[in-house]
Amino acid sequence: MRRSLIMGNWKMNGSREEGQKLAQALADGLGNVEQEVAVCVPFVYLSDIRTVLASSPIALGAQNVADQAAGAYTGEVSAAMLADVGCKYALVGHSERRSYYGDTNESVAKRFAQALSKGVVPVLCVGETLEEREQDKTFQVVDEQLDAVIAEAGIEAFEKAVIAYEPVWAIGTGKVATDEQAQEVHQYIRKRIADRNAAIAEKVQILYGGSVKPDNAKGLFAQPDIDGGLVGGASLDAKGFLQICHSV
Ligand code: PEP
Repeated sequence: MRRSLIMGNWKMNGSREEGQKLAQALADGLGNVEQEVAVCVPFVYLSDIRTVLASSPIALGAQNVADQAAGAYTGEVSAAMLADVGCKYALVGHSERRSYYGDTNESVAKRFAQALSKGVVPVLCVGETLEEREQDKTFQVVDEQLDAVIAEAGIEAFEKAVIAYEPVWAIGTGKVATDEQAQEVHQYIRKRIADRNAAIAEKVQILYGGSVKPDNAKGLFAQPDIDGGLVGGASLDAKGFLQICHSV
C-alpha cells in the first residue's frame, strides 16, 4: 500500500507573517492523519516555516533546486542548502519553471539528481500543455520528461522520489482534469516505470496537480493510481487545504 501525500505549493505568495500564520493554522488543524502532508514554501521563508512546523508532522519542501552542487551560480540555491534548512522535498520541473524560466528536460534531470545526492526527495513534475493534449501528444511528452530523468539518475532513483502529473492546462486555470483523464495518465506513468522495474512502480507515489480543490479532491484521490495531490492556489487557504488533506 502506498502512503498518500498531499503537498501544498505556495508559489511566490504571501509575506513572512502570512506564511507563519498559514503554517501555524495547518499545524493546529491537521490532527492525526495517516497520509503525509507537506508544504513547498518560498526559499527565503524556509527556516521561518520550519520553526513553526517543528513539532508538527507536516514536512517542508522547496519549490526548486539548483542543477549544480555549489560554486559561482548567482541566485541559485543548492540541494545541500535545502537539506541544511530541513527540507525533505524539492519540486523539480514545475511547469512554471519550464515555461517561464527555461528549465529543460536536461536541466530538470540534473536538479533531480542534485536533490537526491543530498537526501532531498525530488518531486518530478510532468505534464502536457493544452496544445499537446489536443495533438494527442500527452503520453509522448510525459515519456520525454520521464526518460530524461531516468537517463540521468537511473530507474532506481524513483525509489526515493515522487512524481507529480500536472497537466499544464489545469494549473491555476480552475479547469481540473476529470478523474478518468487523470487516472489514465497516472496509470500510464506507473506502467512506464513498471516496464523497467515493477517493484519500484508499485511503490512510487504519483500525485495529481492542477486546480485541486476541496470539492474535487475526493474523486481524484479515490483513483487507484493517484496517491495524493500537489495543490497550488487552494493551499493558501488553511481551511480548504486541510479539507483537501482529509479527502484521502
Ligand atoms: C501547482 O502549482 O502545482 C498547481 C497545481 O497549482 P493549482 O492547484 O493552483 O492549479
